[in-house]
Amino acid sequence: MQLSSLPSNIQTPYYYYNIELLEETLRLVLDESKRYNYHVHYAIKANANPVLLKLISGQGFGADCVSGNEVSCALECGFPANQVVYAGVGKSDQEIELALKNDIFCFNCESLPEIEVINEIAQRMDKKVRIAIRVNPNVDAHTHHYITTGIEENKFGVYLYDLEHVITELVKLPHIELIGLHFHIGSQITDMTAFRGLCIRANEIQAKMKEKGMVLPHINFGGGLGIDYQSPETNPIPDFKAYFETFAKFFEPQPNQQIHFELGRSIIAQCGSLISKVLYIKEGKKRKFAILDAGMNDLLRPALYQAYHKIENISSDKLEEKYDVVGPICESSDCFGKDITLNATQRGDMIAIRSAGAYGETMASRYNLRNLPQSLFSK
Ligand SMILES: *Cc1c(COP(=O)(O)O)cnc(C)c1O
Repeated sequence: MQLSSLPSNIQTPYYYYNIELLEETLRLVLDESKRYNYHVHYAIKANANPVLLKLISGQGFGADCVSGNEVSCALECGFPANQVVYAGVGKSDQEIELALKNDIFCFNCESLPEIEVINEIAQRMDKKVRIAIRVNPNVDAHTHHYITTGIEENKFGVYLYDLEHVITELVKLPHIELIGLHFHIGSQITDMTAFRGLCIRANEIQAKMKEKGMVLPHINFGGGLGIDYQSPETNPIPDFKAYFETFAKFFEPQPNQQIHFELGRSIIAQCGSLISKVLYIKEGKKRKFAILDAGMNDLLRPALYQAYHKIENISSDKLEEKYDVVGPICESSDCFGKDITLNATQRGDMIAIRSAGAYGETMASRYNLRNLPQSLFSK
């Protein structure tokens, strides 16, 4: 369905998901990853809408979770427990118990104190736990400061200088089985050289471990592949071919090693748009404001990271004018874009904020006690 033919009688704001585009994207991810026998886990935190999750699990993807509730949600939406991985720097005892009870595939662990707590809880439950160490590889992803995670100033992962010590200690823990290494260097990464850097670092780490006689069966490279926020029409599907090719070319796996990925944004961002209506046009001295019925509580990314989303008036084909497109919330950061070119806009026009499928609906809140946005699907 064209955005311009969306019904105007549905209460706005709402997220609109183009299911055909999602299906096409999933097909491409599978085609390109299966070439190398790679396993792809969908990162639930990007979008946890159950309709979308059921579709994704139905295509055979695993799930990447970062909280106990995400683990439950993944299982409820059809992801098999033996394809669920669970990361996070601050797993609570209750969350660890829940994941253990459900026999998920692997805990991606971020510190020795966490591994020790998991060992204790597993002992109490009489279980052995598969874990991977999340390594902070000190590779700069060259992305936005707030979404880079793989350099030593970040809180994430076990630092390289600490890795040997962590391994020495954890092999003493009777309820822990170390099955792999995990990496995730950041998000919205469009330059493949960052992933090449990650491969080279992973090769170095593996070589060192091998010298000590340690070869692990699993390597997980996390997610982070970026999308084209500027041109969602001409570039609706990221270059998964180039992405997986980079790992095939630069990473040197050990025999029979299984390689995993955790993709969120690149799978789900482009199929979603936030649809809202213009409440008022307010003329300032120097600028015109288009005031929407959607706010930063519906889509936080512009306020949180000054993120760019393409904005379109899908009701108007009049001459273009410039607007500051803002929400109704009592914060100056509640602004979706300044000096945005839109077809001449009036009260009641429908506005689409594009590429909002990832980190949109999941970050929505009830700030100002507003309602949560609803969702609508193309089929
Ligand atoms: C957020 C996250 C992902 C997904 O990142 P994208 O940039 O959306 O692909 C993958 N793995 C972990 C551990 C994460 O925290």
